[in-house]
Amino acid sequence: MPCLLRHVIPLEEAREYVLSGCRLGAPASVVLRDARGLVLAEEVVATEAIPPFANTAVDGYAVRAADVAQVPVTLEVVGTLAAGAAPTQVVGPRQAIRIMTGAPMPPGADAVVMVENTRADGAHVEISASVAAGAAVRGAGEDIAEGQVVFRPGVVLTPGHLGVLASLGRVSASVHPRPRVGVMSTGDELVEGPRPLAPGQIRDSNRHTLLALVEQEGCHAVDLGLVRDDERAITEAIEHGVATCDALVTSGGVSMGAFDYVKVVLDRIGEMRWMQVAIRPAKPLAFGTVHGVPVFGLPGNPVSSMVSFELFCRPALRKMMGFAPRTWARSPIRAVTDEPFPRRPDGKIHFARVVATLEGDGRYHVRSAGGQGSHQLLAMASASALAVIPDGEGVRAGGNVDVLVL
Ligand code: AMP
Ligand code: MG
Repeated sequence: MPCLLRHVIPLEEAREYVLSGCRLGAPASVVLRDARGLVLAEEVVATEAIPPFANTAVDGYAVRAADVAQVPVTLEVVGTLAAGAAPTQVVGPRQAIRIMTGAPMPPGADAVVMVENTRADGAHVEISASVAAGAAVRGAGEDIAEGQVVFRPGVVLTPGHLGVLASLGRVSASVHPRPRVGVMSTGDELVEGPRPLAPGQIRDSNRHTLLALVEQEGCHAVDLGLVRDDERAITEAIEHGVATCDALVTSGGVSMGAFDYVKVVLDRIGEMRWMQVAIRPAKPLAFGTVHGVPVFGLPGNPVSSMVSFELFCRPALRKMMGFAPRTWARSPIRAVTDEPFPRRPDGKIHFARVVATLEGDGRYHVRSAGGQGSHQLLAMASASALAVIPDGEGVRAGGNVDVLVL
């Protein structure tokens, strides 16, 4: 259904529309090695206790605490227990077993004297410090009890979570998998690599930026290459992309130019909406689904494509990956402007590329990262944040501004 809306719409409306076209990925089992940063889709219940048995927290001698109430005292050493060994001997009265960190507590012993407070002497050990019952003993289940719910769905798996899962014997977890996100650049002027440029040509930067952004968000980035400004070529590339990916990001060809075919193709083969968003940069945006697969038609200007990714693709990919809704878009942080950010009223929110630094007053301070044209990628590359400059006359030096820290 063709739906070419030409009036300018607010950022939030455009983002809502984009989000409504993206669905949460179905849970899948993923091996722990590939699961970092993914969102858990299952409740994890401990099937065993951790630690599984009482063991010693120190290297030393397993004793009966009552035997070392008066020190110094000499005990008979009746054996040695390494980590990984199963105890076979009982510690009787006035006896001790030499024991290494992690080794199971031998029956009879109820405490461990650290080696620093002992002196070995043949088959005997002299204990120079008393210990209470339970000293240096790590009880079974002290970390995790059998049957305990350790993680609930929605948890973002960090290295620590993966360690807990591994310690429970898990080799995989049910998570919302990484979407495969295809990235293509469109434009007859684009070439790749170091060869000399013919008149009118430029090198493709967007594909590399966008592939890296996709990867940075934890998705599988799929390089779909460079596509000419040709309706058939773009149709084929998009059809191939949606057949092999969970989402597609294109750049170029969504503006008002005579050869902007991406929006034409999306309009023909997909359920798409072409938007003019009240933001600068990144005003034009085509978004739609082709055979149910979301397709983001980002503008071609390098800064615009990155800002558009930040404002639309990133929240959408986070939704698909199961992150909590309040984390889809970045939360703005109040910052102080160290220089003026002038602008003219134009009905748009401006996103200025800035360097934000946390200063001694505990606040972020921002300065321009350089040239603010939508073609000036260097300033975007140097920026650590986007300053949200609301419609109006801009912000004076020393004023307050919201920033999205990238
Ligand atoms: P378009 O959105 O296709 O009208 O392109 C807008 C501007 O961005 C033009 O100056 C293009 O040459 C430039 N551009 C488009 N795609 C890329 C790209 N992949 N890498 C660098 N610049 C691009
Ligand atoms: Mg173009």
